[in-house]
Amino acid sequence: MKTAIITSESSEKHITGDGHPEQPKRVVSIIDTLKKNKELLWDKPDVVPNDILNMTHSEDYINNLKDSFPKSGLNFLDGDTVVSPGSKDAVFQAAGSAISAIDGIENKKYKNAFCVVRPPGHHAEKNKSMGFCCISNAGVAVNYLIKKYNYKRIACVDFDVHWGNGNYDVMYDNKNSLYISTHQYPFYPGGGSEKDKGKYNNSLNIPLPAGTNSEEYFNAYDRVLDKLIEYKPDYLIFSAGFDAHKNDPLAQFELSSKDFYEITRRTLKATNKFTNGKVVSLLEGGYDLKALAESANYHVNALIETENK
Ligand SMILES: [Zn+2]
Repeated sequence: MKTAIITSESSEKHITGDGHPEQPKRVVSIIDTLKKNKELLWDKPDVVPNDILNMTHSEDYINNLKDSFPKSGLNFLDGDTVVSPGSKDAVFQAAGSAISAIDGIENKKYKNAFCVVRPPGHHAEKNKSMGFCCISNAGVAVNYLIKKYNYKRIACVDFDVHWGNGNYDVMYDNKNSLYISTHQYPFYPGGGSEKDKGKYNNSLNIPLPAGTNSEEYFNAYDRVLDKLIEYKPDYLIFSAGFDAHKNDPLAQFELSSKDFYEITRRTLKATNKFTNGKVVSLLEGGYDLKALAESANYHVNALIETENK
């Protein structure tokens, strides 16, 4: 079976305004690169069920979000999260990409999937948008896996350079998930210290200083792998941000594009025997267009190469 890329034109119609780093060209640059790869299947997002949205965020928040999209121009949901008329489809289809990916894997249409969508999700908390994010797409994936497919031990590995405060928040009291993050610290959005362990010791946060290079990162990443082996996840979700790249303008880690192949390969090697290779990856950050496309391509190459067992 092949690796699938889940994407939608709506991702390019979520307009954030001139000079905003979370721009439509991000998905365009990744897709242009991945199109050269003939090993991939391409699929579209499905509708995200309301009950799954309401398991992930508060009903009030989702209702307010649905009313927030302007008829023209831009609307600022907070200081840096902007929506446009095209954002409604983009936001809900980004969440729906997780649904499509999970169903596609369960139905054996493909072995694993990478969702090239925007806006990203990992800063969106139960009750608020934040940091370019409206819905925790990883939270949606976790809740859908639990509700529809009865998975019980879902690991979410978030290697975006920023702490995924939203993912942490929506998975905080979820006994069926383990949220793991490596991130620059202290840094935006605040939080994500070792003390943040979730309600049931169901989170591992590994804060790392600005300037962290590849060797230092992989030394720290061994703790992620150890935790995954101890946890024995039955499903793996990646919150795949590529802004830990050395060329990224928004953060100060020093990773190379190829390091994202290595992060992915090592994680799959540690978890495949528990998950049978079931993995859904969701695009989060990454703001240097060339570094983003290159890094995402390396990530996908590791998804392509992995065996199902
Ligand atoms: Zn980020």
